[in-house]
Amino acid sequence: MKFQIVKTENKARAGLITLNNNVVETPTFMPVATRGAIKSTPHEYLDRTSILLANAYHLHLRPGPEIINEHGGLHKFMGWNKLILTDSGGFQAWSLPTKLYDDGVEFKNVYDGSYFKLTPQESIRTQNLLGSDIAMIFDCLISVDRPDDEQKKAIEITKKWASIAKKTHNNSLQSLFGIVQGGLNLTLREQSAKSMIDLDFDGYAIGGLAIGESSEERKTVVEYLSNILPADKPRYVMGLGDTMGLIDLIDSGVDMFDCVWPARLARHGKLIIKNKYINIKNKKFEKDTDPIDKECKCYVCKRFSKAYLRHLFMNENTSSWLYLTVHNIIQTENIIQQARDSILNSSFDSFKKGYLNG
Ligand SMILES: [Zn+2]
Repeated sequence: MKFQIVKTENKARAGLITLNNNVVETPTFMPVATRGAIKSTPHEYLDRTSILLANAYHLHLRPGPEIINEHGGLHKFMGWNKLILTDSGGFQAWSLPTKLYDDGVEFKNVYDGSYFKLTPQESIRTQNLLGSDIAMIFDCLISVDRPDDEQKKAIEITKKWASIAKKTHNNSLQSLFGIVQGGLNLTLREQSAKSMIDLDFDGYAIGGLAIGESSEERKTVVEYLSNILPADKPRYVMGLGDTMGLIDLIDSGVDMFDCVWPARLARHGKLIIKNKYINIKNKKFEKDTDPIDKECKCYVCKRFSKAYLRHLFMNENTSSWLYLTVHNIIQTENIIQQARDSILNSSFDSFKKGYLNG
């Protein structure tokens, strides 16, 4: 992986990631294709997307990494020739019922109820077989409101598992990112960051955020880490996808984001228009002949009125989920693109103020 910073404005960075014959302009937003597809939305509609996120935990269970490997890897399995980042299963260890051991996490298989242990070795072996472009270490994520002694234990386990990931990793075409944990305790965050930097990863994620802390608490952690993490490597805040939050953290020097948020909103009929949301179920859109956003360049805004989209949604036509998801993802990508352009034009600060104030 080659990471080049093209321009900075204060801490905000516009960069380029070059990897496996693809180029990603950063900051970038990665839509989430957990099981190799975005819910209700074929990824060929996302022609502006440079990198998708898929999940090693889910693909490990179904269909299994060996089957995907027999296709020549996840890109061929999915029919996606741009970049893929795979998450390790660390988030599922937090969000699903699990038992933590020093050498891994025991899960109950959501499909058949059996128990299995995901270890740092198995997570990396799975990601190596999937052949994603970027793999993540298997980390120990705990809630931000857990006490410091538990946060300390989580960063120690994450450090140990990161070292195992580094030794196990065996795919020369795949980059590997470390993950910094430590909750809201800045001393623990610093210790965790330094332990990751010592292992020399291709990029560094800040994990354990966007799970219940306030935006001020999140900003404090990211600002602090931006002075510690190496400037010449990509920085990735995991699981954040609301556009206000993205702009706020681009301001702190973050380069990569992922989230199910735009797609989840769409399935509830909520549409992103710049820094606001509308609900397509609202009766006032019943006769509205305008597109969702006249300035949006997405497939949906070029073709359909709000009245048509509302009609589809109210009649539970599944194509409405597709159309609304496409709009929300492309709208999010457009906002990030505008932020990037403003960094290149040395006007990010005024862009941010204008965006946040509506
Ligand atoms: Zn649109």
